[in-house]
Amino acid sequence: MKEPNMSTYLITGGAGFIGSHLAESLLADGHKVIVLDDLSTGSADNIEHYRHDPNYELVIDTIMNADLMSELMDRCDYVFHMAAVVGVRRVLESPIRTIQSIVQGTDIVLELAAKKDKTVFIASTSEIYGKSTALPFSEEGDVVLGGTCRGRWSYACAKAIDEFLALAYHRECNLKVVVGRHFNTVGPRQSARYGMVLPQFISQAVAGEPVTVYGDGRQQRCFCHVNDVVWAIKRLIVNPQSYGKVFNIGSREEISILDLALLVKERTHSDSEIVFVPYDAAYDDNFEDMRRRIPDLHRLHDLVGEKPLVPLRQIIDQMAEHHLSHA
Ligand code: UDP
Repeated sequence: MKEPNMSTYLITGGAGFIGSHLAESLLADGHKVIVLDDLSTGSADNIEHYRHDPNYELVIDTIMNADLMSELMDRCDYVFHMAAVVGVRRVLESPIRTIQSIVQGTDIVLELAAKKDKTVFIASTSEIYGKSTALPFSEEGDVVLGGTCRGRWSYACAKAIDEFLALAYHRECNLKVVVGRHFNTVGPRQSARYGMVLPQFISQAVAGEPVTVYGDGRQQRCFCHVNDVVWAIKRLIVNPQSYGKVFNIGSREEISILDLALLVKERTHSDSEIVFVPYDAAYDDNFEDMRRRIPDLHRLHDLVGEKPLVPLRQIIDQMAEHHLSHA
């Protein structure tokens, strides 16, 4: 028997970085959580501490298994679709897998959810804004992507198809679906393995290895603690006013990548040197980066409210501590 306020959440990609924090938070709220993850980039370590919670269930399989997805969806009230390829480097290495899993996987989720009348959150990305310079990026703004010869943009383009599909299922089939565009999300358990800048800098600084700043280091990003992201997306999925809409999710505190490297060195008391690595050596010779990326958060704040975000220094301290205790 379920408690009156207890819901069942299916989280695809729930053993991944954001998904595992989300699962933990929903369990703490007293909900049931079913995680579907193929453990390709998610990790059993991420879920180790609540693995034995009776309200938790892990299913190791892929979102492309439509029969399984159908069964799991019958058992849940809400679906967080978080499964996707992680990191720019993996996108460049495995473009076919990236595009197929994003487009086909999301279509499976949306079609089943529409058929079974479930509520869905689709995790999208700030990559969608591409090279736009219309800062801060607002949800209705233009998408400015580079040519198809540049592999990086396949990820944004596939995610844009996901968004079009989600909005179309809402309009044509009344699907209760909300799209969240995640900006740079960081925090404990984020692996350095996939090349994302902050875990990479922390692991380099702690090991006393060179901290690798790509390009001139003057490109800027806003980093948001994963718990602040989880706070927002849990509120979005249960708010009917979010359905059929897209929301930016992130922080507006901007920092250059070079300043980030300096801050990481300071917080970890590291004497690592900072080295500048040209983009073509870091990725490929066709690579395009974006200089700045700031979210307009008015739409999010108007709907779910606003709370103080974890400051970047504290995020770095937490990540360094986690890194050291799991080395
Ligand atoms: N970056 C860097 N050194 C690294 C990894 C990344 O300078 O070791 C840069 C990267 O080129 C980009 C920024 O840091 O300009 C953020 O990269 P990340 O892959 O974390 O996220 P993105 O914002 O590109 O999706």
